[in-house]
Amino acid sequence: MQSKMRVQEVLQYIKQSSSGQDEFYQASEEVLSSLLPLLEENSKYLEHNILQRIVVPERSIIFRVNWVDDNGIIQTNVGYRVQFNSAIGPYKGGLRFHPTVNLGIVKFLGFEQIFKNALTGLQIGGAKGGSNFDPKGKSDNEIMRFCQAFMSELYKYIGNQKDVPAGDIGVGAREIGYLFGQYKKLTGEFEGVLTGKGINWGGSLARKEATGYGSVYFAENFLNAYDKSLKDKKCTVSGSGNVAIYTIEKLYEMGAIPISCSDSKGTIYHEKGIDLPKLKVIKEIHHASLEEYADTECQCTYIPNSKYPKDGHAVWDIPCDVAFPSATQNELTLRDAKMLASNGCILINEGANMPTTPKALDFIKQSDMLFSPGKAANAGGVATSQLEMSQNASMTQWSFEEVDNKLRVIMQNIFKTAYDTSVKFDCEGDLVKGANIAGFRKVADSMIEQGAI
Ligand code: NDP
Repeated sequence: MQSKMRVQEVLQYIKQSSSGQDEFYQASEEVLSSLLPLLEENSKYLEHNILQRIVVPERSIIFRVNWVDDNGIIQTNVGYRVQFNSAIGPYKGGLRFHPTVNLGIVKFLGFEQIFKNALTGLQIGGAKGGSNFDPKGKSDNEIMRFCQAFMSELYKYIGNQKDVPAGDIGVGAREIGYLFGQYKKLTGEFEGVLTGKGINWGGSLARKEATGYGSVYFAENFLNAYDKSLKDKKCTVSGSGNVAIYTIEKLYEMGAIPISCSDSKGTIYHEKGIDLPKLKVIKEIHHASLEEYADTECQCTYIPNSKYPKDGHAVWDIPCDVAFPSATQNELTLRDAKMLASNGCILINEGANMPTTPKALDFIKQSDMLFSPGKAANAGGVATSQLEMSQNASMTQWSFEEVDNKLRVIMQNIFKTAYDTSVKFDCEGDLVKGANIAGFRKVADSMIEQGAI
């Protein structure tokens, strides 16, 4: 009873102190409300006021980014780095460049990152950053100048033992290259201050593939626990960026059939299976819209988003066995979840961060569908980033297979941790509770041991 009241008080505090930060509130509510069984079991977390302490970032840095466009005009964006929690290691978490980025989005992502990083079993704290800069339609030179301007401020706050950013939406290999180059120029140091680096200059093989591959490994572990597997399963995937592409690639390797992908303009449904080489050319080389995929003779269907109501997404109307939301937050609504259930979907496996709305999640919990939360299922990216840091520190480079094998084991362990925790707290298979409790406990215990700092 006392735990429930305390959770409500802290949520009320967030509502008042972080007004308008809806995604941050959503993420906090999901985590805090799932902790009740742990809080009832052990009073130390309330005695040490951990709930209140863990929802406030250790540091939020907000800065102006001025850069010059191709017409010689000075443009201004806002940059963010929220260093949320360093109880178990140096801050670690990606950078997102997208027009929707604001402090609330960065806080939600940073908060999720705390527990995700703890679940990997590695020593990494939680952070996230980014900018409301829109890379779409910008020339390569404009992207470079923006990245240089962004790093000209960020470099003051990061370091290989302090805070190690990586990519996220809108930040891939090209952007990490420009950011790293500017860091090196400003500090004179060649150090592993970013992950997702190029292979020739400190990057890890299999890092690019890791989030998507890891998401598929996680799904396979979950299905295996219920005597099922991905083999021959029809899978819908949303998004067509880094996570979606390598989810599709690994699904093929596991004998599954990925039949969809999407972007902010529309959805491709390709019954025979997505043409992966073509998708890679369109997205990784041309940086173009999926309309280009549909222009060819592929016997696929292209459904523009404009044809869909605001509360629904075409990709989730396609009948499937397993769904992999891998684009962005709140992309799977109550309507979508009902559609997936009525079409016989057995597992929703989150590749993106918080792609499922709270109402959809409530419905899924009451349904027969299994559900993998993103903070567990997509943790393969950050785990492999940590493997990149290890290689940098020991000045070695592991083979693709070596990194991939380590990733496979890490995902198996994350699944086991989340699943075993769900069993221990009498909610077998509820991996939202299992993942949140396991991640929270590790961080909270470390905070208690380190005192009120
Ligand atoms: P990318 O930028 O490579 O791709 C994002 C994809 O999602 C694109 O297809 C994009 O379409 C689509 N998308 C983005 N925003 C929207 C929107 N508002 N509406 C509809 N579609 C949208 O990003 P990633 O693949 O790296 O990231 C995808 C998700 O996975 C994010 O939630 C990210 O936080 C999460 N994640 C990523 C990790 C990584 O290692 N990259 C690690 C862990 C989680 P379009 O191109 O048209 O904008």
